[in-house]
Amino acid sequence: MSHPSAMDPDAPAAGSPAGFATRAIHAGQEPDPRTGAVVPPVYQVSTFKQDGVGGLRSGYEYARSGNPTRTALEECLASLECGERALAFASGLAAEDTLLRTVLAPGSHIVVPDDAYGGSYRLFARVLGRWGVSLTTAPMGDPAAVVGAIQANTRLVWLETPTNPLLRIADIAAIAEGAHARDCLVVVDNTFASPALQQPLTLGADVVVHSTTKYLGGHSDVIGGALVVRDGRLADDLAFHQNAMGAVPGPWDCWLVLRGVRTLAVRMARHCANARQIVQLLASHPRVREVHWPGLPEHPGHAVAARQMRDFGGMVSFTVGDQPTALAVCERTRLFTLGESLGGVESLIELPALMTHASVSGSALAVPPDLIRLSVGIEDVADLEADLRQALDR
Ligand SMILES: *Cc1c(COP(=O)(O)O)cnc(C)c1O
Repeated sequence: MSHPSAMDPDAPAAGSPAGFATRAIHAGQEPDPRTGAVVPPVYQVSTFKQDGVGGLRSGYEYARSGNPTRTALEECLASLECGERALAFASGLAAEDTLLRTVLAPGSHIVVPDDAYGGSYRLFARVLGRWGVSLTTAPMGDPAAVVGAIQANTRLVWLETPTNPLLRIADIAAIAEGAHARDCLVVVDNTFASPALQQPLTLGADVVVHSTTKYLGGHSDVIGGALVVRDGRLADDLAFHQNAMGAVPGPWDCWLVLRGVRTLAVRMARHCANARQIVQLLASHPRVREVHWPGLPEHPGHAVAARQMRDFGGMVSFTVGDQPTALAVCERTRLFTLGESLGGVESLIELPALMTHASVSGSALAVPPDLIRLSVGIEDVADLEADLRQALDR
């Protein structure tokens, strides 16, 4: 279950001056020039003194347009994703909405995953749909099918990899090549992998989307989102819309996300190691039917995942044969807390068919009724194993 490029958080990313873990702690986070504070302070302020009417300014004028705490987070995220610029938002969906309404127009068409995150799908279909945007769903594990779904008015292809909750893998480089040949932007929702495991911009994607609520924040205590882009012109256009549409995060939220980001490399290494152990337990348990985790050699996306990811992540899903058994398992765990969301230090368990994916039941996006999803946390793995075993054995 290991592969040659097992995660080395110290390995510098291509073209970057320092290793990933170093950038997570230092990028955008120079000690405060006035006080020497070693972490960026919370600038809880709405307006800034100007040097003269219409004259030179400190760089900040009004906190919807910019706030130093937000700038620190944005500079760090740009560095971690190897992008030109990052923009922070009040939530992952706020980031997505701003991106879509920047690059699309009424009449545009988009290609989206046939197992997209439910909230993203709802935004595409029920909000952007009313604005005159149409969509086609495609299986992202099949690059030819994705490129084949592109029409004359297609403006962008939206990817998630790994997907939620079946952990399917999309080949970012192959899809980017096909989509670019048809003049489409490629957007990757990198929430599940985080930049510690995968940097889509280095594989040809144009935009990375994050729900920073998940692994980047990492402590289940803040809602946030981000966009990271390679192209300076697109960055300027998005920054204009960030200000014009106004879905910005407050300074405390930026500060919390940035505090989480500093430990991203070590947290992800531990999430991955714990998940690998849990997968071994599940794969050999008589109650368990199928285990979905891209690190398994028999996973259909394993080869692509091994190529484009540094490790296989902390999200695992599995089936147990029938929904009553799945319900019982979810209700019996004690350390694995029954709850939605993911990516925090604490382990979570949920039943997608009745929880996160209840809104898509009966549709093409429906998930198996007996599927259980785990967000494997960073507790002692022996305790996690014991908890799952007692829940499965009974
Ligand atoms: C949670 C999530 C989102 C939405 O982010 P919010 O911060 O909840 O708005 C988008 N994509 C994925 C993959 C997510 O898990």
